[in-house]
Amino acid sequence: MSEPVFQRLALIGLGLIGSSLARVAKRDGLVAHIAGTARSKATRDKAAALGFLDSVHDEIGPCVAGADLVVVCTPIGAYAEVAEAMRPHLAEGAIVSDVGSVKQAAIRDFGPQIPDGVHLVPGHPVAGTEHSGPESGFAELFQGRWCILTPPPGTEAAAVERVAELWRRAGSLVEIMDAAHHDRVLAITSHLPHLIAYTIVSTATDLADATQSEVIKFSAGGFRDFTRIAASDPVMWRDVFLNNREAVLEMLGRFNEDLTALQRAIRWGEGDKLQELFTRTRAIRRGIIDANQA
Ligand code: NAP
Repeated sequence: MSEPVFQRLALIGLGLIGSSLARVAKRDGLVAHIAGTARSKATRDKAAALGFLDSVHDEIGPCVAGADLVVVCTPIGAYAEVAEAMRPHLAEGAIVSDVGSVKQAAIRDFGPQIPDGVHLVPGHPVAGTEHSGPESGFAELFQGRWCILTPPPGTEAAAVERVAELWRRAGSLVEIMDAAHHDRVLAITSHLPHLIAYTIVSTATDLADATQSEVIKFSAGGFRDFTRIAASDPVMWRDVFLNNREAVLEMLGRFNEDLTALQRAIRWGEGDKLQELFTRTRAIRRGIIDANQA
C-alpha cells in the first residue's frame, strides 16, 4: 500500500458523499486518520456504528483541529455556518475542500473565512445516487467518475495537486476548471435534467387518480427513469437551484425555446425535423457509453 496522501482528514457531513469518501480512504489507506462530524447525534451514532471513521466528534472545532485536509460534505445551504464554525480551528498549512455541486457558492462562502496559510481547493465529484445518509455510501462510488477541482486564481499548485492525488487514488479522473465555467457546464448536464425530472414527476402526480395508477403501472415506458432522478435529496437540490440561479435560468431559457420548437414541429406534422433531432441525440448517448460514463 502506498503512503497516505494526508495525515488527518476531517469530514464535515457524513451522508452519501462524505461516507463514500471515508470508506474508500479507509479501505485504500489514503489518509492516516479520518475524523468526522455531522449535524445530528443520530447520524454521528450511525457513522460510528458503521465504522468508517477513526474518530467521531460532536462539534466541528475538535473535528478539524490538526487536520491537514478538511472536506465539507454538507448541503450548500450549510456552508456559511460551517465556514464560521471551522475557521478558528484550522491548522496552518491545512487545505479546505468540499464536494458541493455548485462551485462559485463554495468560493463565496468559504473564501472570506480562510485564514492566511490555509488553502482553499473546492471540488465536485461528479458521481452520486438518489440515496442519502451514512448507510448509503460505498467505497466504489467514485471509481471511473470525474472529480472537478475549482481552485480560485492564485491557489498554490502543490495544494491542488495533493487534493487531485487523493481523488485519483479514490478512483476518479481529475479535471481542473474555473468555478463559473463548472457551474454553467453542470447547469446543463446535471441541474437542468434534475429540474425536468422533478417537473415531469410532479405533473404526472397532479393527474386524476385513475390516470395516476396507470402512470405507475406503465412506468417502464420511460417515466420510471425520471422518477429515479426525481427521488434525489430535496434539501440538496433546493440548495443547488438557489445557489446556481443564473446558469440554471440561462439553460432553462434555451431549453424552453427548443421545447417550443419541438411543440411546433409536432403541431405542423414536421416529421423530418423530429427525426433529425432524435438522430442527433442518439449519437450523444453513444458518446457517453464510449466514454465509460453510462
Ligand atoms: P446527505 O447524504 O444528505 O448528507 C449530508 C450530510 O451533511 C449529513 O451527514 C448531514 O448531517 C450533514 N449536515 C447538514 N447540515 C450540517 C451542518 N450544518 N453541520 C454539519 N453537518 C451537516 O448529502 P450528500 O448526498 O452526501 O450531499 C452532500 C454534498 O455533496 C452536497 O453539497 C451535494 O451538492 C454534493 N454532491 C451530492 C451528490 C449526490 O448525488 N448526492 C453528488 C455530488 C455532489 P445530518 O444527517 O445530521 O443532518
